[in-house]
Amino acid sequence: MRPEILFPLFAALEALPKVGPARAKLLAKLGLNSVVDLLWHRPVGLSEHRPRDSIADAVPGESAALRVTVEDHRAPDSPRHPWRVRVRDASGFLHLIFFHAKGDYIAKLLPLGEERVIAGKIEAFGVEKQMAHPDFVGGLESFTRATEPQPIYPMTAGITPKVLAALVEAALSRVMDLPEWADPPLVKARGWPVWADAVRALHHPQSEADLAPDNPARQRLAYDEILANQMALLLLREHHKRLTGRALAAAAQNGGILRAALRAALPFSLTNSQEQALAEIDADLASDKRMLRLLQGDVGSGKTVVALLTLAVAIEEGAQGALMAPTEILARQHAETIGPLADAVGLRVAILTGRDKGKPREALLARLAAGEIDLLIGTHAVFQEDVVFQDLAVAVIDEQHRFGVHQRLALASKGRGVDVLVMTATPIPRSLALTAYGDLDVSRLLEKPPGRKPIDTRALPLERLEEVVYAVGRAIQSNARVYWVCPLVEESELVDLAATTERAAALEQVFGPGIVGLVHGRLKAAEKDAAIGAFARGDLKILVATTVIEVGINVPEATIMVIEHAERYGLAQLHQLRGRVGRGGERSTCLLLYQAPLGEVARARLKILRESEDGFRIAEEDLRLRGSGEVLGTKQSGLPGFKLCDPIQQEELLLTARTDALNLLGKDPDLVSERGKAMRILLYLFERDAAARFLRAG
Ligand code: ADP
Ligand code: MG
Repeated sequence: MRPEILFPLFAALEALPKVGPARAKLLAKLGLNSVVDLLWHRPVGLSEHRPRDSIADAVPGESAALRVTVEDHRAPDSPRHPWRVRVRDASGFLHLIFFHAKGDYIAKLLPLGEERVIAGKIEAFGVEKQMAHPDFVGGLESFTRATEPQPIYPMTAGITPKVLAALVEAALSRVMDLPEWADPPLVKARGWPVWADAVRALHHPQSEADLAPDNPARQRLAYDEILANQMALLLLREHHKRLTGRALAAAAQNGGILRAALRAALPFSLTNSQEQALAEIDADLASDKRMLRLLQGDVGSGKTVVALLTLAVAIEEGAQGALMAPTEILARQHAETIGPLADAVGLRVAILTGRDKGKPREALLARLAAGEIDLLIGTHAVFQEDVVFQDLAVAVIDEQHRFGVHQRLALASKGRGVDVLVMTATPIPRSLALTAYGDLDVSRLLEKPPGRKPIDTRALPLERLEEVVYAVGRAIQSNARVYWVCPLVEESELVDLAATTERAAALEQVFGPGIVGLVHGRLKAAEKDAAIGAFARGDLKILVATTVIEVGINVPEATIMVIEHAERYGLAQLHQLRGRVGRGGERSTCLLLYQAPLGEVARARLKILRESEDGFRIAEEDLRLRGSGEVLGTKQSGLPGFKLCDPIQQEELLLTARTDALNLLGKDPDLVSERGKAMRILLYLFERDAAARFLRAG
């Protein structure tokens, strides 16, 4: 439960003066729902009003503070027009402009004939000067105050800067002293203020330097946030590890007979990376703690075979395994890859997807419950309640970011002490991996299977489409296979779908019937499979597709990838798409067709892609171009949204926080020491309640 000391910060915004339901709704648009949210609402700038002696001195474009006399009020002719208030001094006059204002408000704020201090941005209006919605209006005594730097906050329509500033002050008045959770020597060494002072300083910047990330108050708060994140992840991990797992003895013997047989049936030997990952996995499987491991490997790095050899250990022990894929196509592809190997060693494999219904499904479930299926490959359909294993021991989740954390847990609950391996091809940088997957142990496939030739990547404007079609024609004469990807953006799904269908028809016109296939998200699963199957067999030479082929499709014979409107894709997505070729021994080409003129970011993306095939480098660049939040869909990945910290830019803080959290947990695993108790408060302050609940009361 949230500690009482924090209650004032977790009151709803309605608890603050002048906030009713309507205003609360507007504030919610800014992500502000409770008092604490206001504390984290960081100023993004500083408005400084330059003191000016006269209206004549004030220059359009600058922010200025002036002493003036109110001369005239002019009401608007219609509600769409503004109030205009003329103010003057010895040097001249200017107009103050107020949209949607009430007359009595104007009369009270700027009484006729009175002297006032005004501050705000000076604009030119023809030869006149004006100031729309002054930032400040006050009596003559307030001139100094008007020139003090004021924080600028991210805003939304309907809330004025003044109102927001007042709310932040109200929130700050609730800030209390909290016990220190950070490591005292660290705080001292970095010259950080205590938490309460840091929050106050955050909202009272005195200069631009105070807005920079290396400002001590900002550093401290960023650290607090990341510390809460790391502590929460470590607690989750500890919790998971405390759950009883089961020791799979075969893992200690190189995976046992079944794995040896599978290895013998493989047409290749494993890379060092794959061996290394398997060794790490075996150590987990052999222990009586549960495995919770992430296998990270770029597209084509060979994760599937690692998954299979992992699952083999469960089966060797007489238990069952499950392999989960995010889409029907991928599940079928896994089944096809694994099928021949399974047959060779007498493994009983079945596939379960949303397409299985009625009697056949019942029969399959009966066999699963009776233990007559060793390995179940499936999609989300496996999570259904009536899918019961006889004895599930190991589960592998492919493309794990397409699944939620709760689904990972749901799968684990279908067996006893289930060991879980999750796999991702999204090559996220280490810092992001720590914040997103800090509760997982990580193995990485850094090396690709041998014999891969580099992919020749080129960018061409769409005007050169005809040349591309010609080149594709020549390539398929020498038996090449070609992916042709058309973009599918959600907002214009139908339009793009039409474009995809049209492209397929146009190519068919050129190359004749029976050569061009088409897959997109609107097709029935069986139709998709049929097209991909025909392409994989080589019956079809060109597969026109939307990004449904982005994830994991493996046709090693495909050597050409054409991407239309490449400028519309993110870098990571382009990399994934390109990863569909270059999977066999042949040289591959990727043609990025773009609509000119290219924007700066799009140009940068295409350049990086031409220069590099290294998924990790591409991910780093992607982050740089996009900012951390977007790399993985935040919701899908469970990537925590940071408000005060940027784990990419502030990796050093992240690593320090992780070490700090590990040290404290090492000494005080239940967080019952003085500092441990303070740490509990920190967890609740940053709303890591779920993790804090795993702690015993203390
Ligand atoms: P991904 O990591 O993208 O899921 P896959 O598991 O689909 O990659 O593997 C890509 C291709 O590489 C497959 O055709 C697979 O058979 C092949 N492969 C995997 N491991 C090796 C290896 N050690 N040597 C040669 N080829 C391999
Ligand atoms: Mg894969």
